[in-house]
Amino acid sequence: MDPAQHATPTDWPAYVEDFRRAGHAAVEWIADYLAETRRFRVLPAVTPGELQDALPKSAPDAGEPFDRIMEDFDRVIMRGVTHWNHPAFFAYFACTGSTPAIVAEMLAAALNTNGLHWLTSPAVAELEQVALGWLRQWMGVPEGWTGVIYDTASTTSMHAIVCAREFTAPEVHAEGGGRNLVLYTSEQSHSSIEKGAIAVGIGQNNVRKVPVDAEFRMRPDALAALIERDLSAGLRPCGIVATIGTTSTTSVDPVSAIAAIAERHNLWLHVDAAYAGAAAILPECRHHFAGLERAHSFVVNAHKWLLTPIDLSAFYTRRPDVMRRAFSLVPEYLRPQQDPRAHNLMDYGIPLGHRFRALKLWFVMRYFGRHRIQQVLRDHIAWAQRLASLIDSHPDFERAAPAPFSVVNFRFRGTDEQNRAILEAVNSSGKTFISSTVLHQRFVLHVAIGNLGTTWADVEQAWELVKKAAAEI
Ligand SMILES: *Cc1c(COP(=O)(O)O)cnc(C)c1O
Repeated sequence: MDPAQHATPTDWPAYVEDFRRAGHAAVEWIADYLAETRRFRVLPAVTPGELQDALPKSAPDAGEPFDRIMEDFDRVIMRGVTHWNHPAFFAYFACTGSTPAIVAEMLAAALNTNGLHWLTSPAVAELEQVALGWLRQWMGVPEGWTGVIYDTASTTSMHAIVCAREFTAPEVHAEGGGRNLVLYTSEQSHSSIEKGAIAVGIGQNNVRKVPVDAEFRMRPDALAALIERDLSAGLRPCGIVATIGTTSTTSVDPVSAIAAIAERHNLWLHVDAAYAGAAAILPECRHHFAGLERAHSFVVNAHKWLLTPIDLSAFYTRRPDVMRRAFSLVPEYLRPQQDPRAHNLMDYGIPLGHRFRALKLWFVMRYFGRHRIQQVLRDHIAWAQRLASLIDSHPDFERAAPAPFSVVNFRFRGTDEQNRAILEAVNSSGKTFISSTVLHQRFVLHVAIGNLGTTWADVEQAWELVKKAAAEI
């Protein structure tokens, strides 16, 4: 018998000891990785299908030892990894998988506890309230807002759209249909809003993409006009989704003016602050969030700019009663617990199972504390502003949008083709990863700063690579 073919320990103590050894080795591996992330190409140099071809076509019949699995992890899997945790990762949006959260994820997996309702894991139910309450305070959001953790902002916003429907068209809950409902969001909002409307049955054609102003912010006058037009056509406006920090440009919709319109028509107002919500922790950024307290719900992703690894999306609402109406299928008299303090997470969304995500947020908030997190956010914003001014003073480049947070959009003063070639050259260097977007029908380069390990030198290097690529085309 080949011992390697029968590596899985069959008695419990040996199984646990096997973990102890592999677990220590994995922590060593992680520490080495974090110490030397810069050694890796940010973008891997692989072709589609390469990884699938390098792995066996079917799973093993007999268990294999950790060492063999780790070997393939290093040799095959790592080759196909895009290093989002790399300090020179500047694509899409900010993110960091920080060490306290890595530890917490390991502990949560070990406990494997599932917070369906309070009794199935009081720690999951209560720590989620505590961590989200702390975060609410940091962001300056008043008391009375309840939080729930989901996986991603896309899921969160879909839940908000269900709440909007429950709020304005409660009969749809039982009867289905929901014909003629209309949802409003800006033409710069994230695609998840449209997807949510599709999933909820509002339908893609009933999502109005409200035009934006020169700085990519939703135009309240255009919103009001669209609502009036729909009302006179016999349609039923049901909700508005504003964005604080849009995906392309991080523009900020005028939430106060939008809230006034929502109030006039009694519509649910959801605010998507998936990326920029973290900036509310900085008093000097609070003005971007004016009017947020008049919304009915908002989302902020801890897995973006809050040092928490994917996934953790925080949903807040000041109308938990509407949420419960939408998602609670258990009659009140059959409550698993009668105690009003027993929070049942299954009443606040589609999933029944509820992962212990709160643990990593709680670890992150305690480990770093508010001051350190504020310092990190301030550095990122300052470096983005510094990059913006370098771009502004360079004759061959121009900025494509204002930069209120830590994202800079800019372009080489040339053709789209030339800008595409610059992007390609910069990213194929492996030294950094920047992304692109399209603004006013033009191809634009997008640099998002937000990793804990990033220094100004990383940003400067990306800028140097861009200039070098531009000089070579
Ligand atoms: C990133 C982002 C999303 C999508 O977030 P997921 O968590 O990946 O679903 C939605 N809206 C905005 C404004 C974003 O920045």
